[in-house]
Amino acid sequence: MKTEHQRTALITGANKGIGKEVARQLAARGFAVFIGARDMAKGRAASEELCQQGYESTFIQLDVTDPVSIKNACGTFSQKADHLDVLINNAGVLEDHGEDILKLNPEMLDRTFKANVSGPIMVIQDFLPFLQKSVIGGRIINVSSGAGSLASMDTYAPAYSISKTALNAVTRQFAGALKNEKIAVNCVDPGWVRTDMGGPHASRPVEQGAETIVWLATDASQVETGKFWHDKREVE
Ligand code: NDP
Repeated sequence: MKTEHQRTALITGANKGIGKEVARQLAARGFAVFIGARDMAKGRAASEELCQQGYESTFIQLDVTDPVSIKNACGTFSQKADHLDVLINNAGVLEDHGEDILKLNPEMLDRTFKANVSGPIMVIQDFLPFLQKSVIGGRIINVSSGAGSLASMDTYAPAYSISKTALNAVTRQFAGALKNEKIAVNCVDPGWVRTDMGGPHASRPVEQGAETIVWLATDASQVETGKFWHDKREVE
């Protein structure tokens, strides 16, 4: 069981890409990190990698689209820690490369919403009791996208874009609901990052993609809440 002063962070989809790098950077800053991943082998391997580097890391099986998996993850978490300081809703899917809103497949839209919108909502709801026990003030960071910005939206991936706009609304809703609870809720556009999702031609390495997320998890003022960030600046 962690002591009251051990900072803890749970990152969903942390077996690869931006989530894995965020976990590494937070572990390097002294957090006990919880690697959320739906695939047991991949999640264990990512967590083991951090432990081998001398960091404190625990794997938690967590499929954000499955309410039972989320409840089980809460149970596993409670065996290791009594509070959560940082929750990062990073897991996400992009299925509709280059699709057309005029022919949008509603089943694909549903799947995208389950992972990118309902998932983060359920994870926040179920982990909220742990965040409420953070003595330093809880922080929730939802990993959104520039594709979700109404100010700069293009038509390239409509289901993904719509889901990330909705995630920004989810962020505002929780920020409002938790404003008297000392829990900050923000969302982030990490930029175009070289991962399986972003592809090999993306402009940013994962280290840079993780930067603003880690900043919001650590150095940003706790009073900042309900905002959408890119490169440590508020955007629309
Ligand atoms: P990756 O595809 O590399 O990683 C996505 C992660 O999410 C994987 O760990 C994946 O697990 C996990 N995941 C997907 N569905 C679920 C689920 N149902 N339950 C649990 N985990 C799940 O993508 P990135 O690292 O690039 O993306 C991370 C976040 O950043 C996403 O929310 C994405 O939308 C956002 N983003 C990324 C950008 C980019 O350019 N890369 C740009 C803007 C935003 P598994 O390995 O099992 O599939």
